[in-house]
Amino acid sequence: MQNTILIDSYYIPLAKLDAKRTVIMLLTGRAVPAEHTNGKFVGHMKLNKNRRFTFPPHLQELVNGDHFMVPFCIRLLHPVDKKFLKARTAPSRNGILKRDRYTCQYCGSKNQLTLDHVVPKSRGGQDTWDNLVTCCNPCNNKKANRTPEEAGMPIISLKDYSMSESYSDFWKDF
Ligand SMILES: [Zn+2]
Repeated sequence: MQNTILIDSYYIPLAKLDAKRTVIMLLTGRAVPAEHTNGKFVGHMKLNKNRRFTFPPHLQELVNGDHFMVPFCIRLLHPVDKKFLKARTAPSRNGILKRDRYTCQYCGSKNQLTLDHVVPKSRGGQDTWDNLVTCCNPCNNKKANRTPEEAGMPIISLKDYSMSESYSDFWKDF
C-alpha cells in the first residue's frame, strides 16, 4: 500500500505515513482526512467483523462494509512542532509537556506535573513519544504500576472516542 501524505494545518506537506500510523493519527483526533482529497484512498484494511470498536462519527465515511478506507492525504488539526513527527527523535520532558499543553492527561490538572509511562517501564513500556504523557503527581501515585485500563484512568485526549477499552481490540484487525 502507498503511504499517506500528512499535511499540517496550513496545508504544507510534512511527512509520509504508513497505514498504521495514519490510522493512529485519525483515531487519536490529531488529524482528519484532508478535504480536497475526499474520495482518494491509498488502499483499504479489512476490519474484523466482531470488533467492539466504534469509529467516531467523522470517520464513519471511511468505513465501507468491513473495510477501512485509508485516505490519500490527512491534515493535522493543530499546528505542530515538526520534531514530534520524527519517531527517531528522543522524547524530552519539555517536548511531552508542551505536546500535552501542560495538562495532566488523566485528570486535567495543571499542577505538580511530571511524566507518566502509559505502559509502566517495569512492564516493558518504553521511553517513546507514544508511551509518555504529562501527569500530575497525585495521578501518578494513584496509577502506580498499572496501565490506564487497569487503573480505570483513561487518557483524556482519547476519551472522546471512548477508546480506552476497545483500542487494543482495534489492532487485532490488522
Ligand atoms: Zn492528574
